[in-house]
Order: sequence, then structure tokens, then C-alpha cells
Amino acid sequence: MEVNQGINPVNVKANPPSKVSRQTNPEGTIVTIGDVQVGGTDVLIIAGPCAVESWEQLLETALSVKTSGAKSLRGGAFKPRSSPYSFQGLGEEGLRLLQAVRKQTGLPIVTEVMDTRQVELVASYADMLQIGSRNMQNFPLLKEAGMCRKPILLKRGMMATIEELLLAAEYILHQGNEQVILCERGIRTFETSTRNTLDLSAVPMLKSLTHLPVIVDPSHGTGLRWMVPAMSKAAIAVGADGLILEVHNNPELALCDGHQSLSLDEFSLLMADLKKIASAVGREI
Ligand code: PEP
Ligand code: MN
Repeated sequence: MEVNQGINPVNVKANPPSKVSRQTNPEGTIVTIGDVQVGGTDVLIIAGPCAVESWEQLLETALSVKTSGAKSLRGGAFKPRSSPYSFQGLGEEGLRLLQAVRKQTGLPIVTEVMDTRQVELVASYADMLQIGSRNMQNFPLLKEAGMCRKPILLKRGMMATIEELLLAAEYILHQGNEQVILCERGIRTFETSTRNTLDLSAVPMLKSLTHLPVIVDPSHGTGLRWMVPAMSKAAIAVGADGLILEVHNNPELALCDGHQSLSLDEFSLLMADLKKIASAVGREI
């Protein structure tokens, strides 16, 4: 009789999937995005708008977050929107703007890929490909990402368990791409006062189960601009290797997620606090 090689769903800790398991690399994996590393002592801050909207918006935001200490720029060119009538992103034009802003600022760029047919295109522009929450279990996309030679930022599905997140990452590693970062971005619960429930307990749990770096997205995790600083600080305190934050040069006019985007000044103030928290837990920003 065939032995069940799957993992025990009630005890992922005792039996995590093999390639992502911490046991395969107890030291922890370092992921390199352009010339920036994550997974070591440094806490990586990725910042930028939810969506790329224009050259001016992207450049002004990028220059400012860089001055404040961000080491990588985020911005969606292909946006997964709940409504088909919402702004869907600038597509390849957005990728061109990201590339041009990288040239100007030196910040490596992170942007989402939603479709297997776009992996090659997005990989030709981006320094790291994001697989969003809604696609965490898009298995063909995970396989394609595994065959691509760029690092992958894999966001936790909004209804995914930690085990499912690890198995999704396992798909990517299984195809030969070991440069994967996991991202806790909040899960759906009965609570409605926040956009999602940011599961910060996932950070120490994931760090104990896997060698992959773990970052936190408090912007989507809370959906509330005013709450982003508190949860960012908490994320670093519980051991996150980095944060991905939505920052906009004019949040009131943002085409997407303005209500949860920090202004340039708010981001700058937050960075000063984050540096102190990082040093209190033996890390650096
Ligand atoms: C995003 O980062 O812009 C995004 C859509 O995030 P998520 O997939 O976590 O909802
Ligand atoms: Mn967003």
C-alpha cells in the first residue's frame, strides 16, 4: 500500500513540506532583490503606491521613500481588483515606468504578476515578482514562477492556512526557484472593523517552520492608514524580515487603496520609529 507522503494537516509543525522546511536550511535563506538582501540582520522596507499611476506619481514617491530609508519600490502595473470597473492598472506601460524610475533611483522594483502568460513579460522588467493573495493557490502560476529566475514575493491567501501557504511556496521551490519571500497580509475573519485581521502570530510560526524570509504587509492587513504605523512596529518586534508598505505622494487622489496608503511625511516619521524598534530586537534598517 502506498504511504501517504502528504503532510498531516493538524500538525504542520511536526511535518512541514520538505523543501521549505527550516530543517533543510537552519541558517535561513537570504533572498537577493537586485542588490538588496532580505533574510539576514537587515530589515527590508519595500514602499510605494498600490498602483503605478503616472511618471510623476511614481518618481516623486520613489525619491521620497528612498530618502526615508526604503530599499525597494513597490507598484502594481497589473491590478487584481474586486470590480471589473475599477482601475485595472497601466499594464506594460506601468512596467516601463517602474523600470525608468529604477534607473533614476536605483531602487529594485517589486510588482505583481497575475497570469501565467505574463510571467516572462513581468520578469523582464521587475527585480521581484509578486504573487498576490488571490493567486496564492493558482498552481499553474506558482509553477511558472518556479521556472522563472527572479525572486518571488508570495502573499498569503486571505483564507489560507499557514500550511497552505507553505505548500504554495513548496510548488515554487519544487520547480527550482529557491528565492521566495513569504508575506503575511491579513486573513479574513468575522471581524469587520479592519479590512483583514493581520495575523502577526504567523510570523514566529513561519520563521520556526521554514527557512524562507517572512515579511508583513500592514497596509492590506489593516486597510486603515492610521493603524499602519502601530502594526508595522509590531511586525518588526515579532521578528519579520521586512515590511511592504503602501505609500502615495497624494493618498487622497490615489486610484487604488488611498485610504490605507501613508503620505510621504507619515512614512518618513514611521521610518524613524522603525529604526529604533529594529535595533531593540537586534536588527537594522
Ligand atoms: C497588493 O499588494 O497590491 C495587493 C493587491 O495585495 P494582496 O494580494 O495582498 O491583496
Ligand atoms: Mn493595494
